[in-house]
Amino acid sequence: LTSREFHPDDTVVDVDGVKIGDGSFVTMAGPCSIEGLDQIRECAAIAKKGGATILRGGAFKPRTSPYAFQGLEEEGLRYIRQAADEYGMKVITEVMDEAHIDMVAAYSDILQIGARNMQNFKLLSAVGKTGKPIGLKRGISGTISEWLNAAEYIAVEGKSPIIFIERGIRTYETATRNTFDLSAVPLMKKLSHFPIIVDPSHGTGVWDLVPPMARAGVASGADGMIVEIHPDPKNAWSDGAQSLNEKTYMNMMQEVDILVDAM
Ligand code: PEP
Ligand code: MN
Repeated sequence: LTSREFHPDDTVVDVDGVKIGDGSFVTMAGPCSIEGLDQIRECAAIAKKGGATILRGGAFKPRTSPYAFQGLEEEGLRYIRQAADEYGMKVITEVMDEAHIDMVAAYSDILQIGARNMQNFKLLSAVGKTGKPIGLKRGISGTISEWLNAAEYIAVEGKSPIIFIERGIRTYETATRNTFDLSAVPLMKKLSHFPIIVDPSHGTGVWDLVPPMARAGVASGADGMIVEIHPDPKNAWSDGAQSLNEKTYMNMMQEVDILVDAM
């Protein structure tokens, strides 16, 4: 159901009026974690100013250590919805657990499946029943074939469209957080009719590598990107090292706009 063979035309995903996969370049921006109402409102203001139409932010965080901040949960969901509505934006946020799907779906326009859950098949089937668009991250060691099969678990439920998110894969290289696999973009476009966006933040893990890889994402033919920003990256509660401050984000968006126009 996810293959280009089955469905030759591009599928355009309509996120409550924001179209992904229609030839435009959609930017989703926001903090890694929702830290409070003021912080997510500030992020929304910056994101919107640069041209993002979808606000990102995690309320349920898949942290490596159980002792690290795990997210504000429903309180955070309330804050990101409020901030997005205030700025006329849509919301993408991660759902980690089947038990939380109804709650997350009540606040979010797109349900994000994190890299660590790409092969959580019960979770995939369950989000596929919601009818909400699903942002499916590539697994930390996910092959293209495994990623497509994961999407198939969602598609077979017959309700939710899918947005693939290339966020880098684990390789022997440790100088970057992940190895950002840009060739996945044209390859996935060939293999599937669903849109694909890039995540240069998790793809590199290093803030000053994010703008060049965002530009490369545009050039690769991606339908958009998801990027982490923070008013004060040094004091971010998670992923500060890969988060852009306002100035860097605005500069990047200017360059991205120029490239989008040239494509
Ligand atoms: C995130 O988007 O903050 C996140 C946890 O991403 P990933 O699942 O790609 O690691
Ligand atoms: Mn993050």
